[in-house]
Amino acid sequence: MRKFLVFIVLIQVCFGYETYRNYKVYDMTPTNEQHEALANWQNEVGVDFWRFYAPERTSRVMIAPDKQEEFEAFLVQTGIKYEVAIHNMEDLIISERQNITRNRRGRSSPVQPGFTPDFSVYWTADEMEQYCTYLAHTYPNLVQIETLLFSPNNRRIYALKVSNGVFGQKPIIAMEGGMHAREWASPPTVLYLLHKLVEDSQYRNELLANVDWLIVPMDNPDGYEHSRLNARLWRQNRRQVTPTCVGVDINRNFGYSWRTATVACGSQTYPGPSSLSEPESFALHTLLERYASRVKLYLSVHTFGDMVLWPWGYSGSPGWISTHEEHQALGVLWRDGILAQGGRNYIVGNVADVLGNAFGAVDDHMAGHYGIPYVYTLELTSGFQFQYPEARIGALAAETFWGYRAMALHIGEKFS
Ligand SMILES: [Zn+2]
Repeated sequence: MRKFLVFIVLIQVCFGYETYRNYKVYDMTPTNEQHEALANWQNEVGVDFWRFYAPERTSRVMIAPDKQEEFEAFLVQTGIKYEVAIHNMEDLIISERQNITRNRRGRSSPVQPGFTPDFSVYWTADEMEQYCTYLAHTYPNLVQIETLLFSPNNRRIYALKVSNGVFGQKPIIAMEGGMHAREWASPPTVLYLLHKLVEDSQYRNELLANVDWLIVPMDNPDGYEHSRLNARLWRQNRRQVTPTCVGVDINRNFGYSWRTATVACGSQTYPGPSSLSEPESFALHTLLERYASRVKLYLSVHTFGDMVLWPWGYSGSPGWISTHEEHQALGVLWRDGILAQGGRNYIVGNVADVLGNAFGAVDDHMAGHYGIPYVYTLELTSGFQFQYPEARIGALAAETFWGYRAMALHIGEKFS
């Protein structure tokens, strides 16, 4: 056993994996009165709420070892009903890594020119870029790739413009994946859609007939690579904000409804020193600045939860977006498009009501600042938290396609 442990430690040292040893995950079901006290923990360093729901529902949080004693004392003192869902997060991280190694055995690179890409593995950020560049070179009449900015670690953040005419003359659907580093299941669904739009003539004809597409498949390549290679549950970007602190939550850094509050750097939802301070948010902001008047639908693709969520994030019921009925109806089309193919059942609703208030998120910015008529945050996958099994990713991407398609057909009909 000791030899085995030494081996594991050696692997971690060799590959530079950050350990989640003895990180615990708690499920808590606070009452109305207890909820506010629990909310005060949200911005603490070492506290990572995976879900923070309304009172009487079960929220989930991961707590670093050095915070557990204090946190458990708080739970006992306030009488919040709780249980430890995961005793040692590191066990799950190691097991995921082993599954990935097994899944990849005997496979070659998922992206090879001239071959259908392999969607049954998680791609590296480089492989994503390689595929997107390949599409632009191979189908110049359909795809243009444009560099938006470079990330703090000098990776390219780019957009694809997909059109069977002159880009921007039809209504545009804009979307982005990979904003949150650890949400690995997001980019593959976006890349699979891109593959269908460009390389599958049946769907290409249908889905490019009335709309153009503006796609950023990987908004946060630094964070994604850090999650892949170092710290599996990293959420933010990788900018050195202060000499002692790295990382901003891009989805709290947008201008519309941006709040400084008292969230310190080091907290999971640190919104940055000022609004749009980060290349990953600024790139999307300036891209949309150029096309917003033509963009009719904006999708921000995240995990987890099987949810289709509409604005506002800064204000839930009764302060919903004025077009909430239309938003709900189009969200239902997504849900039904997937259900009709035997897929999972999505919850459709207001993002703040379902997930709690968030300030400075991209959805509010696209709806509030740019007035884009339909804006959604999609939370794909449930039941696996952030660690959606790699072997199932291809099936998920194929299933999610029906949701994208249902929305796109409606937007095409309504606005063209
Ligand atoms: Zn997310």
